Amino acid sequence: MASDNIIDGKAFAERLRARITDAVSALKQKHGLTPGLAVVLVGEDPASQIYVRNKAKQTAACGMESFEHRLPVETTQETLLDLIAQLNADNTVHGILVQLPLPDHIEEQSVIDTVDPNKDVDGFHVINTGRLATGSAAMVPCTPLGCLMMLQDRLGDLSGLEAVIVGRSNIVGKPMAALLLGANCTVTVAHSRTRDLPSVCRRADILVAAVGRPEMIRGDWVKPGAAVIDVGINRVPGAEEGKTRLVGDVAFAEAAAAAGAITPVPGGVGPMTIAVLLRNTVMAACRKAGIEEPTI
Ligand code: NAP
Repeated sequence: MASDNIIDGKAFAERLRARITDAVSALKQKHGLTPGLAVVLVGEDPASQIYVRNKAKQTAACGMESFEHRLPVETTQETLLDLIAQLNADNTVHGILVQLPLPDHIEEQSVIDTVDPNKDVDGFHVINTGRLATGSAAMVPCTPLGCLMMLQDRLGDLSGLEAVIVGRSNIVGKPMAALLLGANCTVTVAHSRTRDLPSVCRRADILVAAVGRPEMIRGDWVKPGAAVIDVGINRVPGAEEGKTRLVGDVAFAEAAAAAGAITPVPGGVGPMTIAVLLRNTVMAACRKAGIEEPTI
């Protein structure tokens, strides 16, 4: 397997964070503006705690203000919505991220709807979904935007390429489709009712897997030379008893033998998500202050 076809998301995210750090430093010096990100976590889900800790660490490392709000699992929906209203009104907060999933007694959609669309750095508010769908300036969901950035970096202009996205979730599949359509790809969105998925995938110059099924996409589903973006994060039993390991939605070794470019798991799409979140926060701060957005 040639390793020069591997897209190193970790290194890409490091470079993006370096550009963000420079942009933040310039905003502070020229405009006295420090972008601020508030992250809200309800409950004690171990994976969410790790995500929130990493987000706070990386926010501070880029020179931005980090506000962490950890609430107990029994927090009522009303209390959470009150906190979001306070963050909406707080001028030092430019981005608000509520870590999902939320406990069962809280309606996720009400929470998403309450975040000010201009501070919705996750891009989940229906206003931002609509803006993205109609091609106007939007807060774009972090994971698909990270995928687009890596694709454009590797392939340059994506115009006219056949893109197949497997998965149609609101947080990955659908926004990925909108972004690739915006980049002039011919886009197919496949899902659990798609007929003959392997043939559909074989058409793709760009194949994005966002399914949540370990190693479902096989090597012979990949057109030779295609760019494969594996969004999946699946924990499976490891070689040693009691240990686990992470795999994507793509059978990596098989697919890498055919692909022109491919993201590994871990170390591909995953590291990009937080970096793009920080980028979205910088953009939100600039828009709020009426300052031209930096190119990052
Ligand atoms: P999701 O909401 O569960 O959506 C999965 C999609 O896959 C659905 O549209 C579903 O189709 C489709 N699907 C399921 N089984 C299928 C099959 N056998 N054939 C074809 N399509 C099938 O998942 P998600 O939130 O989009 O996440 C997808 C994966 O990405 C997960 O592994 C998740 O952990 C990972 N993820 C990673 C990041 C990151 O930062 N790297 C961020 C977000 C998510 P239907 O709509 O027909 O049910």
